[in-house]
Amino acid sequence: MKPPISEERVPLPIIEQHIQQGRENLARFRRSPFHDQLRDANRDSYTKLFEEYPEEALAECEHYFKKAKKPPAKPNTLSNSQSYEGCWELGTQANPQRVDCFGVEDYLYRFVALVLSATLPYDGEVVRHRCHNRKCIRPDHLQLGSQQQNKADDNERRYVGRVSLTGRAKRGN
Ligand SMILES: [Zn+2]
Repeated sequence: MKPPISEERVPLPIIEQHIQQGRENLARFRRSPFHDQLRDANRDSYTKLFEEYPEEALAECEHYFKKAKKPPAKPNTLSNSQSYEGCWELGTQANPQRVDCFGVEDYLYRFVALVLSATLPYDGEVVRHRCHNRKCIRPDHLQLGSQQQNKADDNERRYVGRVSLTGRAKRGN
């Protein structure tokens, strides 16, 4: 039996491009002059990962990219005209996939964004989904940003939901 379209996987050359970019970024990773002042448990765990286990971290990303599913493209309605095509999905909206890798425990989308850009998290920083899809782990749909930006994203999403022509938008949460 043919697998349903929703089971479509991410092409391997695309995955390899992202992993290679991450490899180059990790190779260039250096502690900033403010490193010691900004230290906390979360940053320390990512620092250790970048410095001591970069290939293992990349392998973890690659593993999950290969598992991710590409949902079929939606019709181009007003409600998703601002969304991104071709999400790579794992987990659910309520419970996005988590990861546990050499001392780093985090949401996978956050892990992917930080590892592939070789960026340490700082207090109050969150990883935003430009596609508004919390299941998505596609690197170019993820963006580092502040809590405030994330709230703006939520407001935008609610607004988009209200003007949806599909009539299926949820309200109030
Ligand atoms: Zn996405």
